[in-house]
Amino acid sequence: MEYFLAKESVLKWLENPSVYHIKKDELYELDDEAFEFLRSCSAGKGCRSNDKKSIGYCAKEGILSREKSGLKRPPIKKSPVPSLRYLELQITNRCNLRCRHCYIKDKPGKELSLSLITKVLKEFEAMQGLRVLITGGEPLLHGRFKEINSILPDFFLRKILFTNGLLLNKKMLGNLNINEIQVSIDGMEKAHDSLRGKGTFRRAMRSINFAMDSGFEVSVSTMVHQKNLRDFNKMENLFKKIGIKDWTVDVPCVTGRLRENTDFQLAPKQAGKYLVYGYGGGIHSGEKGFGCGLHLMSVSASGKISKCTFYSDRAVGTIKNGLRKCWGKIKPVRLDKLECSCEHIEECRGGCRYRAEILGNAKGKDLYRCVSYKTI
Ligand code: SF4
Ligand code: SF4
Repeated sequence: MEYFLAKESVLKWLENPSVYHIKKDELYELDDEAFEFLRSCSAGKGCRSNDKKSIGYCAKEGILSREKSGLKRPPIKKSPVPSLRYLELQITNRCNLRCRHCYIKDKPGKELSLSLITKVLKEFEAMQGLRVLITGGEPLLHGRFKEINSILPDFFLRKILFTNGLLLNKKMLGNLNINEIQVSIDGMEKAHDSLRGKGTFRRAMRSINFAMDSGFEVSVSTMVHQKNLRDFNKMENLFKKIGIKDWTVDVPCVTGRLRENTDFQLAPKQAGKYLVYGYGGGIHSGEKGFGCGLHLMSVSASGKISKCTFYSDRAVGTIKNGLRKCWGKIKPVRLDKLECSCEHIEECRGGCRYRAEILGNAKGKDLYRCVSYKTI
């Protein structure tokens, strides 16, 4: 019986050789033997092995399939260390909302061209990237979104669309070449609308339902703010009930538009305890010995490249310099260089470095996280 590498699976050489199941968002680290075995399965004649146990396991996990995909796969080259796994790609900073906590620093109206987006995706794939997070502004407002959508299937990446949900409709969902949709929900109706505008909660929830009915995985991101503090249990029940994949909860940094909206700002003691909510994987994580964003980089709508969106005004380069070169300039945060020694450091990893900086010390504590760990 012949088996082939499933069309949703791709070999990636990160810190270790691995296979990534794009649809399940599952990464499996491999030893050299397993890697060579799976490499043989991606060739035209199927797996060169009679190891029924391994084949059975891989077939059960959806890594192997009886179907010959015929897809042209990208070359496997060792990635830099640390590996660049997640890329925030802000294709436009145009938006149809004026949220009161928005942190976008560039003047509105910037958009990446289709050729620059293609270049970035090619380079990210060649660097063995896993997830591209297509963001804005509102990414669906990009003037050439249809064409961007049409090139997405060419890339062996998990594509996640970050949206406020206002423009999604059944017809559009039927054509989207996306694996996951992340919608912002900042509280139950009253609290969400106070931050994002009247009627936005209902429209966003309707889009979530449409997206789920159309078979997309849906995740939610929520900002803790003055008006949604009583909603967290309700949100948790709702998101679990309807099957939200990941729920990201964060406190917005006091930057951008939030500086003027003081009625939405919260002190660490008020907001930190809500950071225990949320579930699922994230993109801001570190690893043993390293702080946040170890595998993350961000491209802004003006082509600037930085550690994450918050550092867009301290870019390490631009798309024209190339992703690999820019990645080499981003220094990972080392936990032993931080001024926060506490028993939770390996779990907390020093929280958000940008938030610590806004609080007054880039190497100091992220007091919001400290509250969630009850260390202050
Ligand atoms: S600084 Fe904050 S937003 Fe940026 S990668 Fe770290 S945790 Fe994420
Ligand atoms: S809980 Fe506070 S002190 Fe401890 S690692 Fe996190 S930010 Fe640093």
